[in-house]
Amino acid sequence: MSRPIINADECQACGICVDTCPQGVLEIEGDVVAVVDEDSCIGCGECLEECPMGAIEEIEED
Ligand code: SF4
Ligand code: SF4
Repeated sequence: MSRPIINADECQACGICVDTCPQGVLEIEGDVVAVVDEDSCIGCGECLEECPMGAIEEIEED
């Protein structure tokens, strides 16, 4: 299972990843993006490919 990790220091809350994610995993909360539905992440990598700040990493978990 994969899940995204947000680097809050880099995130500009632009919302691109929120719009890109096909699973509704991410939402803007205040001035940063939050992982609101981690279990729905399918590890597609689209969010981190689209983030202009390089603020998203994905980690693999069992
Ligand atoms: S695309 Fe990157 S900078 Fe924009 S809200 Fe998502 S994590 Fe933050
Ligand atoms: S890896 Fe895919 S499913 Fe997971 S948060 Fe990013 S865009 Fe959404």
